[in-house]
Amino acid sequence: MTVSLQLGEDSIQSEVNLSFESVTLPAMLPAFRLIADQLVDVAINNATSEGKSISCKKGCGACCRMAVPVSEPEAHRLRDVVVAMPEPRRSEIQQRFAAGMEVFRQTGLLDNMFQRVSGEQEERNAMANLDAYYATGVPCPFLEEESCSIYEERPLICREFLVTSPAENCANIDGVGVKRLPTLARPGDALILIASNPDEKRVASMPMIQILEWTSEHPDQGQSHMAPEWMGLFAETLQTKANNML
Ligand code: SF4
Repeated sequence: MTVSLQLGEDSIQSEVNLSFESVTLPAMLPAFRLIADQLVDVAINNATSEGKSISCKKGCGACCRMAVPVSEPEAHRLRDVVVAMPEPRRSEIQQRFAAGMEVFRQTGLLDNMFQRVSGEQEERNAMANLDAYYATGVPCPFLEEESCSIYEERPLICREFLVTSPAENCANIDGVGVKRLPTLARPGDALILIASNPDEKRVASMPMIQILEWTSEHPDQGQSHMAPEWMGLFAETLQTKANNML
């Protein structure tokens, strides 16, 4: 299937191999990642042609201490990744998740962390929660020696969150001095949107630290549709969001 997106002056065309069968969203992740990586490549080329460079590199994991929003389909996929790990690594990772959750359990911070906000007050509260999360300093359980230990499997948001400002600025909780690479579209948001129920305030995502607990409570991987249908919906959502960003 050919996926074409027009993003301002840029356009991408992706050839994705899809099986003609009914699948759940986690099974679509390899195809969604392909498009996300292509979008990031275009954004990096644009930044490079403006004389900017990407500061993110192996050994810098400042953003891996933020409340990284993981969509429900990615949470299921990552749970499978953890379950497939050999021992003792699997137990180590599971213990990191459990220890992180213990920190947050007392705070109530994770309750409805990501939801549709309406009004300035709700927006301010949401920002304050994100700051409070970052202030705990709890790292993503997959962060090892300040590098991502599941690089090929990292969520869409981790692929698109890059900065062109000095790496040391990323330690600023208030985000002062952090210049995020302008993305042409937000594949992470698009996936959350298509996985969400439009009638609910809650959106289909959670902070990374919650994924093992949430998936053990919600083992159902969601609706199945034909793979080209999911891809069509993803592309349409991406295009609409990109148009709104222009
Ligand atoms: S999955 Fe990898 S890149 Fe994403 S927050 Fe965790 S360690 Fe960082």
